[in-house]
Amino acid sequence: MDETLVFRILATVLGLILGSFYNVCIHRGLTGESIANPPRSKCPKCGHFLSWWENIPLLSWLLLRGRCRSCRKPISARYPLVEALSGALALALAVKFGPGMKFAVYLAFSGLLTVLAFIDLASFMLPLWPMIIGAVLAVICAPLFLDIPLMDALLAAGLGAGTFWLVRWGYRRLRGIEGLGEGDIWLMLLLGPLTGVRHLPFVILASGISLIAFNLPMLLGGDKGGEGHPMRTPIPYGPFLCLGAMLAILVGDEVLGWYLGVLR
Ligand SMILES: [Zn+2]
Repeated sequence: MDETLVFRILATVLGLILGSFYNVCIHRGLTGESIANPPRSKCPKCGHFLSWWENIPLLSWLLLRGRCRSCRKPISARYPLVEALSGALALALAVKFGPGMKFAVYLAFSGLLTVLAFIDLASFMLPLWPMIIGAVLAVICAPLFLDIPLMDALLAAGLGAGTFWLVRWGYRRLRGIEGLGEGDIWLMLLLGPLTGVRHLPFVILASGISLIAFNLPMLLGGDKGGEGHPMRTPIPYGPFLCLGAMLAILVGDEVLGWYLGVLR
């Protein structure tokens, strides 16, 4: 069989398996349990330990029709969603970069972004330490493996976080309410070194467009005034920033090339 095809299939399977691990990280991140203890997966509702065939990415959820075998309570659709997304991201990175360190490093960071995004979606909170450790690792990895010079990585971190800090400060001065979460500033510190300065505008633009697109039904249909006013309903921005960064990593060069071609 064609080597490229084999690599892409292996990458997808690896992504699906990693997705199961991300689910554990997301669940433990939300509940505050340790990642290491207990090592075996169990139903969060009844504590039933999962046997191997109840723990296969995607397939088990479909076989069990989204319910726990023991207590019959529904299993969140987040589990197969994270696994499918992780598999798709691994495949996309494999197609873009082929085998090598660039693929491996971006795969690892895509996992961190997936976990952060789903924790933010469920709790409106971004855990601080994983972002800080991730940002330090990203600055180290950028010149070594990602073809992004150290100064570029540092500048991207500073510019990204600085811009968001300014927007947050300005919004609070003008409107007197929080427009941006503090977590989003820390998140930019991590995303900047992964994309480099030249893709920062794309990350911000793509995250803004996807945020509006995903929330359009709520923004249009929300009742006017009071607590339920659509502009007052909190929307986590972190997941869309992570999405924007992944898009920049996957198609940023092509989009930038096309844009500069149009200008010419
Ligand atoms: Zn159960």
